[in-house]
Amino acid sequence: MIEHKQIYIDGQWVDASGDGITHLVNPANEEVFATVPMSTPDDVDKAIRAARKAFIPWSQTPSAERKAYIDAICAKLTERKDELASLISQEMGIPVHFALGIQVMGPISGLSIFGDLAATMDETREHDGGYITVKEPIGVCSFITPWNFPLFQVVAKVGPALAAGCTCILKPSEQTPLSTFIFAEVCAEVGLPAGVFNLVPGKGSVIGDVISSHPEVDLVSFTGSTEVGVDIAKSAAGTVKRVCQELGGKSPFIIAEDAPVAKAVKYVVKDSMFNSGQMCVQLSRILVHESQYEEAVEVAKTVAESLAVGDPNDKGTFLGPLSSMQARNSVVRFIEKGVAEGARLVTGGTELPEGVEKGAYVRPTIFADVNNDMSIAREEIFGPVLCFIPYKDEAEAIAIANDTDFGLSSGVWAENKDTQMRIARQLRAGQVKVNGPAFSFAAPFGGYKMSGNGREWGASGLTEYTEEKAILVGG
Ligand code: NAP
Ligand code: MG
Repeated sequence: MIEHKQIYIDGQWVDASGDGITHLVNPANEEVFATVPMSTPDDVDKAIRAARKAFIPWSQTPSAERKAYIDAICAKLTERKDELASLISQEMGIPVHFALGIQVMGPISGLSIFGDLAATMDETREHDGGYITVKEPIGVCSFITPWNFPLFQVVAKVGPALAAGCTCILKPSEQTPLSTFIFAEVCAEVGLPAGVFNLVPGKGSVIGDVISSHPEVDLVSFTGSTEVGVDIAKSAAGTVKRVCQELGGKSPFIIAEDAPVAKAVKYVVKDSMFNSGQMCVQLSRILVHESQYEEAVEVAKTVAESLAVGDPNDKGTFLGPLSSMQARNSVVRFIEKGVAEGARLVTGGTELPEGVEKGAYVRPTIFADVNNDMSIAREEIFGPVLCFIPYKDEAEAIAIANDTDFGLSSGVWAENKDTQMRIARQLRAGQVKVNGPAFSFAAPFGGYKMSGNGREWGASGLTEYTEEKAILVGG
């Protein structure tokens, strides 16, 4: 049993002021395996005040020193990579062999990019007309992160904050805080000055409001559901702080008429079933030309049925359980709704996968003959469930793709370069993946419409944490 007893404020491990604890349940076996203390609004207030006190000195630290701290954090996290992968797997069910790459080593590489970008904070630009512009850190930042990428989403915020010279407090998801304890331990080990990074695990419903409304916080960055993101923006509004929202999605994938349909379907089914489909960027609405539609559905069935579902510790496993029994119940309700709405259930469904007797497992599920008005095509399911929708021509494909409240990710598979760019430029989403690329930790990432208003990672991610100052010099 892992028992965390303290939270990290002002460079010290301290007791939380209340006696709340949360029990973490491994979704693969439904057993409690860890406990974590829950911070109170008072603890959050202390953490924010520590971050405020630390801000001016940290913001004046030379950028080379900030880079050195970031590099040292990367090195220490790398030393503990296997422990991190194992903890994240136990918290949320992702197979350990996938967790090591996408949940641990990927974010570390993204963090190291922020180390390299720290020096860009020193740039001074002289403009025609006699003025100078400089970038300065925005100040104290508070972060609220989701459970589906526990370290990844933390690094996307803490990385640029440290590089810019901001100080921060972090509230990780109640379900997946363990990697953030290691992050705090590492910050302490490398000697990061007190108050620069503070960890306040707790319940969003209890401490979320103080995190977003506190007058000493200059920026709140939230990743999670659109519903909670809207509440956070409302509670932040009274203090005119910057609000960065990274929210949900319902992303389309257009298979162009000239595409090798089997190859494109194979890619998208595997990509979208990764992390058991619990990804804001999941390409969940697959648009296929009517002439290739039945072939696409047949290939999707074969691919979905070939993906191994089971023990997250087994190297052959592709899909572990969902993050919790609650998550499984929610996805099962969507599958039932899809059937009730008249979509064709091609494979998968509500039963536990064959050979599995307990745990939050869901079968990889493919729906065909989906109409874009059905709730399975409009709402974020957050599980291994994909909708195949036929289209008549490219204009209709683009219209269906953009007929959504969201705009986070999108994809296209086309052979012809002009077709690739023509479709990519018309999709109303923050990213377009053409012909199955890997994730980039340097490219800007964020949403259009109800998917959010921020941009994370790389140089654009750093910009969110800066204010631009104009210095006008008279005669
Ligand atoms: P969630 O329920 O919105 O929770 C996200 C975070 O908000 C958690 O830390 C949660 O704390 C906290 N929270 C809950 N209620 C709150 C409140 N009233 N005030 C302040 N904070 C509150 O989302 P989730 O279920 O963890 O994650 C899945 C969602 O995240 C999906 O919609 C997904 O698309 C989205 N997501 C978006 C991105 C992106 O980059 N755009 C990336 C990953 C995930 P508790 O743990 O205590 O509930
Ligand atoms: Mg939630």
